[in-house]
Amino acid sequence: MRYAINDKNEKIEVSFSGEVAVCEICKVNVKGRKGEQRIKHWYHHEAKRIDCDDWHEPISEWHLTWQNLFPAKNREVTIMKDGISHRADILLDNGLVIEVQNSPLKLMEVRKRERFYGRNNLIWILNGDTLAKNSMLKKDVLVFRFMLSISIPKSLGPVREYDFKELLEEIENDYEIERLKSGETLFELINENTLTFKFTDDQIKNFSLIQAQYKYYIACAYEKLYGQQMLERFRKQIVIEYGSMRETVIELNLVKKYWKKFIDEMEFPVFIDHLEGVEESELYYYSENKTISKEKFMDHYLKYT
Ligand SMILES: [Zn+2]
Repeated sequence: MRYAINDKNEKIEVSFSGEVAVCEICKVNVKGRKGEQRIKHWYHHEAKRIDCDDWHEPISEWHLTWQNLFPAKNREVTIMKDGISHRADILLDNGLVIEVQNSPLKLMEVRKRERFYGRNNLIWILNGDTLAKNSMLKKDVLVFRFMLSISIPKSLGPVREYDFKELLEEIENDYEIERLKSGETLFELINENTLTFKFTDDQIKNFSLIQAQYKYYIACAYEKLYGQQMLERFRKQIVIEYGSMRETVIELNLVKKYWKKFIDEMEFPVFIDHLEGVEESELYYYSENKTISKEKFMDHYLKYT
């Protein structure tokens, strides 16, 4: 462990080998070790030399780098719950635990830690160098060149219960419309009463046919919700357009090789540091499939220290 308690009740790091302090959890004396081979640390030299926190892992440079981004009071903090204590790598003032994980965990361990640390809130930062060494993030560039948009009226006078959001949802779930979302399509809901589908290739050969078909599907969805009242008027106000456009989107694909299964068992947000294909200044936010700059990440979490 990195910190122990001195006789002034201060949290201290090892300053020389053989230095004596007290373990915050079990209150026994611990000794400092400082050498060339390993990072300086406190060890339990009494009673079988076993660390009282069975979740401990050897301190790595990578651990220190992450911990040092936070104030000392937030590093390696003992948390006690129901008479059990563990040392969280980083504990923020708002109760969030940041576990900085360098070595593999068994599935059971993941669950235990999430139950313990997650009672308030938890995020994981995994070391890609040790835990996702063979995997890499691929960035594919997609160029969208065609766009189909479907707009429906925002209100429909006499039909009081008409709700364009409800209807859009119904249309979106229509099997034929749903098909638009397959393949290389970017689906977007914009301008609140418009559904937009973007395509990399020209998908629609006969637009007037498609237009008539979709108007029919949309009218069916309307009828299902509101019956036949004002159906004709509604149908006339549907606007379906197809045209060219140009938009470039970077698609992230994590290529997993020798992937560690325990990572997928993690229920709290997972960030991966040092992943191939990701800039050194960035983290890969695995749970959301996106990259985030470390600067932004820190700006966000330092608020709670
Ligand atoms: Zn101890």
